[in-house]
Amino acid sequence: MSSIYSYAADAFLSLLQSRSPEASDMSAPKGKTKNSQEHTAPGDRERCHSSPPPWPAHSPNPSSLCSVPPLLGLGEDPQSPRTLRLLLVGKTGSGKSATGNSILGRREFESKVSTRPVTLSLQRGSRGWAGRELEVIDTPDILGPRDGPEAASRAICEAMAFSEPGPHAVLLVTQLGRFTDEDLQALRRLQEAFGVDVLAHTVLVFTRKEDLEGGSLEEYVRDTDNQHLALLDALCARRHCAFNNAAAGAQQEAQLRELLDMVKVVLWENEGRPYIEVPAKTSSLFFRR
Ligand code: GDP
Ligand code: MG
Repeated sequence: MSSIYSYAADAFLSLLQSRSPEASDMSAPKGKTKNSQEHTAPGDRERCHSSPPPWPAHSPNPSSLCSVPPLLGLGEDPQSPRTLRLLLVGKTGSGKSATGNSILGRREFESKVSTRPVTLSLQRGSRGWAGRELEVIDTPDILGPRDGPEAASRAICEAMAFSEPGPHAVLLVTQLGRFTDEDLQALRRLQEAFGVDVLAHTVLVFTRKEDLEGGSLEEYVRDTDNQHLALLDALCARRHCAFNNAAAGAQQEAQLRELLDMVKVVLWENEGRPYIEVPAKTSSLFFRR
């Protein structure tokens, strides 16, 4: 799939590189430099499904990347599905399970600081919200390094099967201030596994919102000199939000409302359809090596 996205991505990257000589800095705080690590390219590999999606691949107009369509309330949109499946992905320790718990408003998934992955299997939890069912799918480390392409492929296939008939929105979770090489690798694998167009269904979720210390997420994202984060945000059409997963009560509800506003935009742009894996060629990936 030669995507108009990758064209836009290349142009965007060149622009950023010409603006920032330190653009390869992977750490989020401005001005700091972190060594980049080498990654193994999984390359093209066998897919879970080889058939094309039942509708034309999503190719948004790049000029619309920054524009937000008018919001439709979940109850007002006839195409809004009864059950909204939200798939949590991201590197281990980014706060996927904690975010899942915040969305559900209860401690459904185990979440704790650990040197080893805590979530070991795919899990789901659900709750009602404004007359709809929110189904949250928490994932173990499906995008991390694996013992070979077969194991990687199996992990992704399991996740896709678990979220059938496809997630309405993919929540790419990353810790505020720490968009590292590991996040980038997870992002690459997300595209390789789910297809480039997965970004049209992706919302960028930052955890540790409290680290903004009252500052604005908009400013944080707008001013970042991490070129990959800036590009990712643009490719996700600036659908981003933040969670303080230690929050409760009204603050927790407000965070969820913000996330669901982003999910509404994804639904609006994709006419309420869930995401179905679209095989991607490595050559069409963003953030390719
Ligand atoms: P996962 O591996 O991506 O599922 O990450 P977890 O949900 O297990 O979170 C890893 C650690 O980060 C846990 O100790 C969480 O309590 C912590 N964490 C996650 N989100 C937040 C947040 O918004 N604020 C703070 N302070 N800690 C968080
Ligand atoms: Mg987890």
